[in-house]
Amino acid sequence: MADPYLPVEIVRESASRELVVTWEDGHVSRYPYAYLRERCPCAACAVLREQPRDRLKVVSGPVVSAPEMTDIQLVGRYGIEPTWNDGHRMGIYDFEMLRLLCPCAVCKGETRAPQ
Ligand SMILES: [Zn+2]
Ligand SMILES: [Zn+2]
Repeated sequence: MADPYLPVEIVRESASRELVVTWEDGHVSRYPYAYLRERCPCAACAVLREQPRDRLKVVSGPVVSAPEMTDIQLVGRYGIEPTWNDGHRMGIYDFEMLRLLCPCAVCKGETRAPQ
C-alpha cells in the first residue's frame, strides 16, 4: 500500500526556488523555499515566531524574504534537514509534517497543518 508520508523523490529546484517532493502515493508537493524557511520547526525559530511579525523581520533580516536552500540532508528514514543560506540548519522537517504542509490547492497545507 502506498504510504502518503513516504517520499520517493526529493529535488531542490534552484531555478524556481522550490523543494519538489514526490510521495509514494503519487502526489507531488512543491514547497517554495520561503514557505519552508518560515515554518522551520526548530526551537529557536519557534521562539522567533512568537514575536510580532515586524520584530521577526528585524531579527531575521532579508532571509525571510529570499531564503536559499543550499543543501539538504536526510535524517534517518523519517525526515529532512535543510541548510539555508544564512547558515541555519537546526530544523528537522519530518515527512509527516512535510506532507501536511503541502501548499497545493488540494492539500491546502496551511489549514491542515497540526499546531
Ligand atoms: Zn529554525
Ligand atoms: Zn498537496
